[in-house]
Amino acid sequence: GFERGGAEGRSLHIQFADQKQEFNKRPSKIGRRSLSRSISQSSTDSYSSAASYTDSSDDETSPRDKQQKNSKGNGDFCIKNIKQADFGRREIEIAEQEMPALMALRKRAQGEKPLAGAKVVGCTHITAQTAVLMETLSALGAQCRWAACNIYSTQNEVAAALAEGGFSVFAWKGESEDDFWWCIDRCVNVEGWQPNMILDDGGDLTHWIYKKYPNMFKKIKGIVEESVTGVHRLYQLSKAGKLCVPAMNVNDSVTKQKFDNLYCCRESILDGLKRTTDVMFGGKQVVVCGYGEVGKGCCAALKAMGSIVYVTEIDPICALQACMDGFRLVKLNEVIRQVDIVITCTGNKNVVVRENLDRMKNSCIVCNMGHSNTEIDVASLRTPELTWERVRSQVDHVIWPDGKRIVLLAEGRLLNLSCSTVPTFVLSITATTQALALIELYNAPEGRYKQDVYLLPKKMDEYVASLHLPTFDAHLTELSDEQAKYLGLNKNGPFKPNYYRYVWKQQLWVWTINAKLGIYVQLYTYVFNNY
Ligand code: NAD
Repeated sequence: GFERGGAEGRSLHIQFADQKQEFNKRPSKIGRRSLSRSISQSSTDSYSSAASYTDSSDDETSPRDKQQKNSKGNGDFCIKNIKQADFGRREIEIAEQEMPALMALRKRAQGEKPLAGAKVVGCTHITAQTAVLMETLSALGAQCRWAACNIYSTQNEVAAALAEGGFSVFAWKGESEDDFWWCIDRCVNVEGWQPNMILDDGGDLTHWIYKKYPNMFKKIKGIVEESVTGVHRLYQLSKAGKLCVPAMNVNDSVTKQKFDNLYCCRESILDGLKRTTDVMFGGKQVVVCGYGEVGKGCCAALKAMGSIVYVTEIDPICALQACMDGFRLVKLNEVIRQVDIVITCTGNKNVVVRENLDRMKNSCIVCNMGHSNTEIDVASLRTPELTWERVRSQVDHVIWPDGKRIVLLAEGRLLNLSCSTVPTFVLSITATTQALALIELYNAPEGRYKQDVYLLPKKMDEYVASLHLPTFDAHLTELSDEQAKYLGLNKNGPFKPNYYRYVWKQQLWVWTINAKLGIYVQLYTYVFNNY
């Protein structure tokens, strides 16, 4: 299962096939709760939601049963409580500080309005960061209607601030499955308004329109999709010849990938561990399984804190990278008895199994940073001789008959998304990419994009990055005419070919090819022979 999110059951799984929409027959409160456990994996993979800490309202009335209006008398929204708008506004203003590129886009587009006439229907996490995106789209000329892509991730106060600001938002924290689809439907099924752009995170909105309102696609100029799942669905549609508009795959943008995986995990691994266990990192022995982007981030952070870090890998290239970065490459069972923390980030299954868990020392912390909850065989710990004790939210002690206990975090689900937040700056990069993708699709001349799935042009990725540079007072060097000619580049980019992946693997080739020392040549030969 693909899992993400804080509260139990936060991961959703939506089945399109047997969806029966009977909005008027709403389930009872208990029914709603149980339903909400069953829904969707959708958009659980964009790694970019932030949990709401502020569900201050204990009003149990369903927002669907309330008549609310904002201070201008507009009631075209459905949220928990419009009175929370001021609080939500402050949250949005805080997010703006860490989203410099969107703020810069707003300034640059003053007067220009590249999204004038765009009617964007969106389905994303509704958080302060998305609010900054929506308000940017609006500043660029778009009209927006929005629903949540996850039943738990809505920040109610932010939804209130958006509604107060005139946005048609249909979302609240703790929606049932029925509410979820009702909200999406309210976004698209509206008199006198038809969307011409879709911004989706998980593909649910897109599929809803495909299923219920296929004629809408006549007016839709394009889809921008953020998540792995949603992108996968789009490729499936495209393969089946059923994709009827161009779609932009934001998930695989190089800037997004790099920041979501490497830098985001480098920041959030420590946060997730600290919030759950208060562990001290200095001198602790940690084993990180997998030295891909996520593993590299985790290792770098832990090393910087003074931990002794071991790495396990199956891929000799990544293994070699780990060695060159100063980590001891081991097999898990060589260190399992001595380590204090075990972290999985392979994207694989059964990386840590019962046999390993049996051998861990007392108080060993076990957690997962990979996308599925299959990396640690948690099910194998559900045997009668082991006792489970929930000691904190997201923290279980699993106790062996001899008194040894291990500390299992988030039941093996993604640690950082279950137990900490994602840095706003990371979300800024994704949100800017989404905004630019919308602008590109909306303004592209007829014929530039066909009914297929596209990556954002490299130049725009570079633009996203450049908009984030002023935050660091970073000064970019410009190519001289002579240098540009020498490299065969346009002075204004793109600066790399499309196949360039910005990963260390590439640098490894450069090192090995350039190296004069025999050892490097030998390593190169080894890698070469094995691939
Ligand atoms: P990656 O492919 O770059 O790295 C995974 C590494 O694990 C690879 O190098 C692979 O060789 C290695 N591996 C596979 N099986 C192994 C095993 N049995 N033992 C040891 N190593 C093994 O992928 P990535 O970008 O690092 O992502 C890893 C996982 O984290 C994925 O599931 C991804 O979806 C998820 N992810 C999580 C977050 C987050 O915020 N926590 C962010 C992005 C991605």
